[in-house]
Amino acid sequence: MTQYDYDLFVIGAGSGGVRAARMASGRGIRVAIAEERYLGGTCVNVGCVPKKLFVYASQFKDQFNAAAGFGWTVGKLTFNWTSLLANKNQEIERLHTVYYNLLQKSGVSIINGRANLLDAHTVAVGGTEYSAERILIATGGWPSVPDIPGKQHIVTSNAMFFLEHLPKRIVIVGGGYIAVEFAGILHGLGVKTTICHRGDKLLRGFDEDIRDFLTDEMTKKGIHILLNTDIETIERSGDCFSARLIDGGKVSTDLVMYATGRTPNSTGFGLETLGVELDTEGAIKVNSDYQTNVPSIYALGDVTNRMNLTPVAIAEGMALVNQLYANQPRPVDYDNIPTAVFSQPTIGTVGLTETQAREKYPDIDIYKTSFTPMKNTLSGMDEKTLMKMVVVRSSDRVVGIHMVGPDAPEIIQGMAVAIRAGATKSVFDSTIGIHPTAAEEFVTLR
Ligand code: FAD
Ligand code: NDP
Repeated sequence: MTQYDYDLFVIGAGSGGVRAARMASGRGIRVAIAEERYLGGTCVNVGCVPKKLFVYASQFKDQFNAAAGFGWTVGKLTFNWTSLLANKNQEIERLHTVYYNLLQKSGVSIINGRANLLDAHTVAVGGTEYSAERILIATGGWPSVPDIPGKQHIVTSNAMFFLEHLPKRIVIVGGGYIAVEFAGILHGLGVKTTICHRGDKLLRGFDEDIRDFLTDEMTKKGIHILLNTDIETIERSGDCFSARLIDGGKVSTDLVMYATGRTPNSTGFGLETLGVELDTEGAIKVNSDYQTNVPSIYALGDVTNRMNLTPVAIAEGMALVNQLYANQPRPVDYDNIPTAVFSQPTIGTVGLTETQAREKYPDIDIYKTSFTPMKNTLSGMDEKTLMKMVVVRSSDRVVGIHMVGPDAPEIIQGMAVAIRAGATKSVFDSTIGIHPTAAEEFVTLR
């Protein structure tokens, strides 16, 4: 009999924690999971899932308008935010039940409340102490907002999922994933939307052509994008807010949303006292086996701030369990992880950007095409698609594929398999296209 209550105690029931807990329990390991807020974590409650539902909601106006070109007459359009919110909340409730049942059925003990580490093998939740051979920290992250005068007036993505009323105007600060996704959502729902970003382009780290193309498309739709600027102060004036910019300009708005990154949830629950090492950003430092400098404590997902994506946290949870409890060390390969931005139009991308490829290889060929999707020939919509492929000439290997346009995330998932399988440009060229699609352009790029 082991001296501990559990073999594995997981703190945080988000994407990574739930996967690790379920998989370990499925292997006969005695597992508990503590969650202080909501089952499913960020992704299910204030991230991927409600975000994508909002994206769907925001696309209808364009779709209704496009329908006229195909012969449809659509009546007066009205949109009810309260009804969207209620339906979204109902779906999230359904997912809570799904998560609860999955954990229960796999034999995981679910403990509600905030977990505090007492020592390297003991966790306290709401006055009860639990001992465990190993403790996994999967506490995710939280929006981070710079300290500026007027900070008390702003909201972050967390609040956007529960707003009582949609504002007429919004200023979104930041130029990353969340800023561009919410700009598309709010614009689509009829909110006059301004992005205010300190950089010279949106989406740092993405391929330059993708960044430029998306900015043009968003601007064409009517999203106002302010670059190379930042907000200095925010003041309330009556029912609205006045944001003063560093260049002296002023923007009046009904709501200011900050999407300026996320900080790992690594403080205030005992890691400091135990001496668990953090990096300068507050991320828990782990080795390639997700182990911290305290040998019984492991960490994965957003709290380690590697690639803050749900499928990555899930893959890390699987890898940890396989390695600890199945003697199958299969580390996560962080190369060629595909990612999508659910902006409007969407982005899908995998592999190296052109800049990264040119830094790594002397002989890069670029294949690019930009076109009007067939649907828009009748819809009258002005939105275009961009596709780009980065190839190493000497080996013919495709090392990067990037797309902006409808269905880009769906298309790029398959492209990621091809890149991971080592596909060459000749393999793409010899693949027969599916006609008529946008995706076929990837096999006809010359
Ligand atoms: P989380 O899912 O954040 O889970 C951590 C859990 O730990 C939380 O439930 C928290 O309440 C709990 N917790 C924290 N401290 C304690 C404690 N002391 N005791 C008990 N419980 C605790 N990724 C994608 O791949 N695709 C997307 O489209 C996408 N969209 C996103 C949209 C938004 C607006 C945001 C914010 C994120 C999005 N992400 C997306 C990122 C994705 O949500 C995260 O990468 C993922 O949720 C990380 O999982 P995790 O398990 O590390 O942490
Ligand atoms: P990002 O890191 O993507 O973007 C943060 C943005 O805020 C950047 O443009 C950054 O500018 C800017 N910024 C940072 N600090 C400041 C500051 N002090 N003042 C002004 N601007 C600032 O973070 P997000 O919050 O958008 O998203 C967090 C993470 O969540 C993402 O990185 C991603 O991993 C995940 N996510 C994934 C999604 C998906 O898969 N579709 C969707 C949403 C989130 P600069 O570029 O100059 O640093």
